[in-house]
Amino acid sequence: MINCDIIKDMLPLYADGAVSSASCDMIQKHLMKCQNCRKAYALYRKNLRSGKTVELLPKETAYPYAGVVKKIRLAKAAEHAVALGLAVTAVIGIVSAVKNKTIVKRTIK
Ligand SMILES: [Zn+2]
Repeated sequence: MINCDIIKDMLPLYADGAVSSASCDMIQKHLMKCQNCRKAYALYRKNLRSGKTVELLPKETAYPYAGVVKKIRLAKAAEHAVALGLAVTAVIGIVSAVKNKTIVKRTIK
């Protein structure tokens, strides 16, 4: 049997009649066998008529890369923090080097 998530992904297109006849057959066959998807489809159509937006899949399933994107963002933020830290260290280093030179020059004079 076809994965219910795939069917649920296609239900909005199916409801719009925007699927190929092969997909249409596949969805109809699945809906005949699968009560869960039949319920989801009925709910989708009901909500569609009342003008609600419908999430057929839980958000995490609907966008499986959300977690990955979050991790990448965190990694980037960490990189920025490290870069900022290095920049601050460099500035402190330069400032203290300049100060040391001034002190050295003054001592020489
Ligand atoms: Zn199903």
